[in-house]
Formats: sequence, structure tokens, C-alpha cells
Amino acid sequence: MIEIKNLHKQFGNLEVLKGIDLTVNRGEVLSIIGASGSGKSTLLYCINGLESIQAGDITIDDIRVHDPKTDLNKLRQKLGMVFQQWNSFPHLTALENVALAPRIVKGKSKTEATEKAIEQLRHVGLESKINSYPSALSGGQQQRLAIARALAMEPEVMLFDEATSALDPELVGEVLDTMRMLASEGMTMICVTHEMSFARDVSDRVAYFHQGIMEEIGPPEQLFNNPQSAHTRNFLSKVR
Ligand code: ATP
Ligand code: MG
Repeated sequence: MIEIKNLHKQFGNLEVLKGIDLTVNRGEVLSIIGASGSGKSTLLYCINGLESIQAGDITIDDIRVHDPKTDLNKLRQKLGMVFQQWNSFPHLTALENVALAPRIVKGKSKTEATEKAIEQLRHVGLESKINSYPSALSGGQQQRLAIARALAMEPEVMLFDEATSALDPELVGEVLDTMRMLASEGMTMICVTHEMSFARDVSDRVAYFHQGIMEEIGPPEQLFNNPQSAHTRNFLSKVR
């Protein structure tokens, strides 16, 4: 459903993605690992059209992301995105945060958006926090709120960019559990992550990025137990 062909991305003279070829199928969970600066976040921003590209092609369900004729707002409704630190609207409750976009972007009625929002908040285990403001939530709860917000738009793909990196260690697990649940429900997911155990246990495939190149991609058993590239081996020896 996501097809990336020969993707090149530069910032000025800096070549950040050097010809990426990658297909992600419906229902697949792909984890992306790699050193800081290897282009992982940039790839996600290219996929949702937040960044322009210099060459190549990204299609989502046969819609070309960087075709000027593509309605990016419509395309982005297919894509839910969760960042490292999400700033939910501080003046809105958890419920209002989740119900906002479906009302404004999808034109849902207040009743429908509210019912759906309650369902999503329950889904991520925040039913008791429906009327809380983000400032009254823990970091892990705020990230689960961010996931509920993304899910409320009924996306076909979820993109996670180090969704747990900013959290205190004891809060990481609850967010990973929520991501695991989504994976088990068949959500298509691309997860940039530093959590090797998540990548190993939850992903169908893991991709290792090195200096703008996808050095290696394969099932977790292969990538972690029998990495083919010296760069992958070197990286894994440092993070484990
Ligand atoms: P990290 O693990 O630290 O998040 P990353 O793999 O996500 O790293 P990117 O954020 O994709 O890396 O950045 C890749 C390269 O592109 C880096 O060298 C970064 O400095 C550069 N870069 C990213 N965004 C911009 C920008 N808006 N303008 C110029 N350079 C940028
Ligand atoms: Mg990044």
C-alpha cells in the first residue's frame, strides 16, 4: 500500500536519503532503526508530504504523494502520525482533543465525534481521563492520548517517530503495549524506534538505516540474529 521508489532527499547540499526503495504492505508492521541523523524521521516526513523530495516516487494506495495535483490534506487522513513529544491542545480536555479533528476535518457531528472519541480513549486505556487536561496526564498517558487522536481520524497507516524516546523508562511500557495492541489488530505501522525488543517482537520486518541508505531489511530474526551488513552488526553491538 506504500511504495517508495528510488527516493532522494536533500537539504541544500546535504544528501539525507540516497535512493530508498521500500514497499510496505497492508497490515504490515515495519520498524526502522539506525543511528541519529541516518534519515529515519526525514523518511516519515516525506511519506506524509511534509517534506519535498528531489527524485523518486512515493505512492500510497496508488496516489502519488508529491504530485502537485494530489490533495495532501485528503491523503494525510489516511496517515496517523505520533511524534516523540506531542503537544495536545492544552486548553482542551482529552475528550475534546480527540474529537476535534473528526469534527473539523471530517465534518462529523458533535455527538458522533464525542462517541467515537470516548471509544478511542477507552481503547488506549484512558477512559478515566476523559475530562482531564493534558497537563494533568503523565507522559505515557499524553502519548496514548496522541495515539487516540491519530486513531480518531480512522487512518489506514500509523507512522510513529520515536513515540517513547522522551518518556521516563517506567512509562515506556504502557505506550509500547498500546502500539503492540494496534499491531495485533492489523494496523499498518511504520515505527521509527530505539526499542530493539519492540522491533524484534512486534515487527514483521525491520529496516536498518545508515547515512541515508537502507542498508538492510528483513524479518527481525534475520536482522538481529544474522545481520548481513557490517554497519548493521556494528550498530547492533552498540545498542544491545
Ligand atoms: P534521530 O535518530 O536523531 O532522530 P534521524 O535518523 O531521524 O535521527 P533525520 O532527522 O531524518 O535523522 O535527519 C537526517 C539528516 O538531515 C541530519 O543530518 C539532519 O541534520 C538533517 N536535517 C533534518 N531536517 C533538516 C532540515 N529541516 N534542514 C536541514 N537539515 C535537516
Ligand atoms: Mg528522528
